[in-house]
Amino acid sequence: LFITLEGGDGVGKSTQAALLEEWLTSRGRRVVRTREPGGTEAGVEIREIVLHHRGDIAPRAEALLYAADRAHHVATLVRPALDRGDIVLQDRYIDSSVAYQGAGRVLDPVEVRDLSLWAAEGLLPDLTILLDLDETTARARLDGARTRYDRLEAERSDFHARVRAAYLELAAAEPERFLVVDASRPVDEIAAEIRARLDDRV
Ligand code: C5P
Repeated sequence: LFITLEGGDGVGKSTQAALLEEWLTSRGRRVVRTREPGGTEAGVEIREIVLHHRGDIAPRAEALLYAADRAHHVATLVRPALDRGDIVLQDRYIDSSVAYQGAGRVLDPVEVRDLSLWAAEGLLPDLTILLDLDETTARARLDGARTRYDRLEAERSDFHARVRAAYLELAAAEPERFLVVDASRPVDEIAAEIRARLDDRV
């Protein structure tokens, strides 16, 4: 079972991933929790380039770096785990690329998706949990805590609005794969909604 968590920065993906991992483990399932970019050793190096390179990276180069990270991650970690029968619980995947590199910037979302699918040898999640939250609330959550989101300051808020809209469009196009969750609600309520969706599958 391959589950991905998606949504903008500050929507609570890591919190929900941790709670979901705990629940799945309590049900006796083996869980591999991972993330993109940076879920492997090579991926950490790619993440460093793509997120911390000084100066701009051309949009196509950026899309290829995410795709390279994904290709390596799928081949060396995700596929083997799924083949063993483990549940893979992953923070960000193909939909992040379509939302961020595609709709967020200047590339054609269909091309970005095709590139990603090629990199991932066609592997799509069984379930994608989209944590949907408006920009203002997400930003307020981030401002309190961390500094690693300095990129956020550089990116205009209309960028985030486009990313959010792109995510919702993706979800509407594939309703069976997506569970869209209103992420402004309390953490426990969100976790319960996610568990309910998975209850008969694990
Ligand atoms: O989720 P995480 O905090 O690891 O993501 C770091 C940043 O990478 C996000 O804020 C987002 O701007 C960017 N990102 C991206 N395209 C992806 C994945 C992440 O632009 N495919």
